[in-house]
Amino acid sequence: MKDISLLVQDHKKMYRAGKTMTHTFRIHQLQKLKDMLHRYEPRIYEALNKDLNKSSYEVLTTELGFLLNELNETIKYLKDWMTPRKVKTPSTHKGAKSIIYKQPYGVTLIISPWNYPLHLAIAPLIGAISAGNTAVIKPSELTPYTSDLLEEMIKETFEEKYITVLQGDKETSQQLLKEPFDYIFFTGSVPVGKIIMQEAGKQLIPVTLELGGKSPCIVDRDAKLDLAAKRIAWGKFTNAGQTCVAPDYLLVHESVKQTFIKKIKEEIEKLYTDNALQNDDFSSIVNENHFNRLLDYLEDGKVIYGGQSDKNTLKINPTIVDDITWQSNVMQDEIFGPILPVRTFGRLEDVVDEIEHSRNPLALYYFSENYQKQEWITRNISFGGGCINDTLMHLGNNHLPFGGIGSSGIGKYHGRASFDTFTHQKSVLKQTTAFDLAFRYPNSKMGRKIL
Ligand code: NAD
Repeated sequence: MKDISLLVQDHKKMYRAGKTMTHTFRIHQLQKLKDMLHRYEPRIYEALNKDLNKSSYEVLTTELGFLLNELNETIKYLKDWMTPRKVKTPSTHKGAKSIIYKQPYGVTLIISPWNYPLHLAIAPLIGAISAGNTAVIKPSELTPYTSDLLEEMIKETFEEKYITVLQGDKETSQQLLKEPFDYIFFTGSVPVGKIIMQEAGKQLIPVTLELGGKSPCIVDRDAKLDLAAKRIAWGKFTNAGQTCVAPDYLLVHESVKQTFIKKIKEEIEKLYTDNALQNDDFSSIVNENHFNRLLDYLEDGKVIYGGQSDKNTLKINPTIVDDITWQSNVMQDEIFGPILPVRTFGRLEDVVDEIEHSRNPLALYYFSENYQKQEWITRNISFGGGCINDTLMHLGNNHLPFGGIGSSGIGKYHGRASFDTFTHQKSVLKQTTAFDLAFRYPNSKMGRKIL
């Protein structure tokens, strides 16, 4: 492996040479990235299938499709986003102009997780390239086929001193964190997010942290239950629940609990049959550690649906667990798997106390036909982002900045927000030399009169 410090120095030289500053250069690189994704499409399906048993349909909708859409949007609007913005200047600064320049940070580090291993490495890269940075990507060691492919694709497409994939585990990450990067974009777990922030703090490197948490899914008594069941079953069990914004647990109004559970079971079976273990469209758990961790949760509460698993394929059937408390392990951790615990509520106000147990969720989903209640939930609960009457879909609209709040993350990206995240807004006042207003100086008679 190339010496990490030398690699970062090469990136610094490349950045300082100024090539990344122009619109033409950036568009060319984004176009190359897009061509790369098209060129490697069959191998992308293959790698993600080997790592996570992802179906082609799921790869297209949740990984490739998202990236291509993001690239098209960025290519279309980049000129506008890059253009320095003139802002108002107060009359006390007569003669001057005020301008915000869009400055790249420089050499950036992107550390990504395993659950959407292509999407979560490339989406921040689009932001880094569009804003004129160079990037070193450290993908997850838990999805080796996709990480190998990422390295191969990027090596073939870009100069090493501009975009590099550096594979390795947490030791490699920690070595990278010692280097003088200009920006760090991290996606992963809360505990590792804290380490990243601590390390970045030693050099005062700005960070974006895209983390996780327990995202509640609330079904009120006036919700359209059939549609809610369908959309929640899809959102929860896509990628076998290994989605940062998957509904983590269900909070259902006590009066509709039994009906709703019956409906969601039916919807699960429509999606994956009554035995998802045999269904090729249903993803595996990433490794044996996570598989065993998830099975341990089934010791809590009462399994009322599913629960079967296959150690050979690392699959766990979609599972619903009832009779759990906030002391149960399944309610203490982010689940990140196909297990849906059910809790109930009576008054909407009680929902706030429930959610308070896991502070600042990354996402929140609320199902109800009542506008006032939708607004009440949206305005009174702190969460990163979410949907009313749907799950996951907010993530696919790149006009909505995506990110957490507090313990679920710092910073936002997608669409223009990705460009902004990787850009320093450099505010500059251009002063006139045609005249000089005297009142700011301590010996100014005019200034003293105003005081
Ligand atoms: P993780 O935090 O274990 O690993 C993420 C990355 O950090 C990997 O590249 C890993 O090699 C590296 N890493 C691990 N330990 C490290 C350490 N001690 N020091 C430095 N680097 C280290 O996360 P994961 O298990 O790969 O992914 C799952 C987590 O990511 C879940 O919590 C999920 O909610 C979160 N996630 C968040 C988003 C989001 O957009 N907010 C998206 C996907 C996943």
